[in-house]
Amino acid sequence: MNLLIMGPPGAGKGSQAVIIKERYNIPHISTGAMFREAIKAKTKTGLLAKEYIDKGELVPDSVTIELVRERLQADDTKNGFLLDGFPRTIAQAQALDQILSEVGKKIDKVINLVVDEEILVIRISGRRVCKTCGETYHIVNKKPKVEEICDVCGGELIQRADDNVATVSNRIKVYYEKTRPLLNYYDDKGILINIDGSGEIEETFRYVEKIMEDANDLT
Ligand code: ADP
Ligand code: ZN
Repeated sequence: MNLLIMGPPGAGKGSQAVIIKERYNIPHISTGAMFREAIKAKTKTGLLAKEYIDKGELVPDSVTIELVRERLQADDTKNGFLLDGFPRTIAQAQALDQILSEVGKKIDKVINLVVDEEILVIRISGRRVCKTCGETYHIVNKKPKVEEICDVCGGELIQRADDNVATVSNRIKVYYEKTRPLLNYYDDKGILINIDGSGEIEETFRYVEKIMEDANDLT
């Protein structure tokens, strides 16, 4: 199954993606994570992306599309994949359709996490990530056992550079302007499924599970 997970920043795409990946054994392809790796490795793409990410702007389509095109050529995507954070613009969605159609594939389902704006800001501003393994925490909703230390690996917990209040409000604004129109794009294709993403991670995942079961009933 070729899946997309969508939703505003802070909707919990990444948290669901980690579970979906494990449960259905498909690779999780996150453009945000790929950019953060490129920044860490100080590659040309990383240096360019950082300029935009730090301001909460989108990285230019040309750069992002090439990154995804290459990633989708990898062998591990042949039995399905989960895209998270891509596409974010109509141009990216069209490019994705093109890339997939060249190899006789298509997106099967688009899972959209619906969450109110007030909740988004609270979730993102309290988010902390492990510097070493990337596990995510929240200072109120998902505290580590020891303050500022990762439960999984003992690494240091930090705030993502783009999770500060100013950048977050711009990311949400950019989402409404550029990314939200994509919901119509996929609804018109009849593959959009909206689910409530405002509850706990496990609760949201139960809705995801239901979608996957329904999809299997059809095949
Ligand atoms: P979130 O969904 O919480 O905003 P991501 O990790 O998906 O976080 O993305 C972080 C940043 O990376 C975005 O704000 C944007 O600057 C950049 N980015 C990620 N994916 C894309 C994309 N498809 N197109 C353009 N920029 C992207
Ligand atoms: Zn860790």
